[in-house]
Amino acid sequence: MHVHSEYSPCSRVKLFESLSKAAQLGVDLAITDHDTIKGALKAKLLLQKYNVKVFIGCEVSTRDGQILAYGILEEIPPYLPAEQAIELIHEQGAVVVAAHPFRDDRESLLDKTYVLPLDGVEVLNLAGGGISKDAEEVAVSRGLAQIGGSDAHTLNLVGEAGTRFPYQPESEEDLIKMIKRKECTPVRVIRR
Ligand SMILES: [Zn+2]
Ligand SMILES: [Zn+2]
Repeated sequence: MHVHSEYSPCSRVKLFESLSKAAQLGVDLAITDHDTIKGALKAKLLLQKYNVKVFIGCEVSTRDGQILAYGILEEIPPYLPAEQAIELIHEQGAVVVAAHPFRDDRESLLDKTYVLPLDGVEVLNLAGGGISKDAEEVAVSRGLAQIGGSDAHTLNLVGEAGTRFPYQPESEEDLIKMIKRKECTPVRVIRR
């Protein structure tokens, strides 16, 4: 649910490497590059070669911190106020998840996680240290979906943490539906 590719300036992992590792592990991927869906769209073209599904995601930079959007088809301009970015994502019928909300830096929503109109919270971020108790608490108290992801910028993390759904989503619509119903569980190691 949180994988970067060569379309993120800070990532060193190539799409084809991620897809081939995901195929080996038996997991699907949401590609969530910083402020672009180009990587996710390219992965969809590449994936015929691999037995993997790819979902379009994006880690959108806002003035208040980073948010994950799933199912957008139009990119969101970076560094808008979070409220505005979330509105633009929801207008596309997509869902919004707070990325590593309590990571102690300017890229995280921190206290805004308690008030913004989110659909979910990233409770497990492998690159950021694993499960966040604070993120888990806010998800429970606000009744938001709990998402897990690797936040992989290198191949060794791809597919090593993620989210389990009651059934394998066939499309972004399926994924969005299950996130809205909160039918998701963060998992540290996923094997189909
Ligand atoms: Zn981030
Ligand atoms: Zn990230």
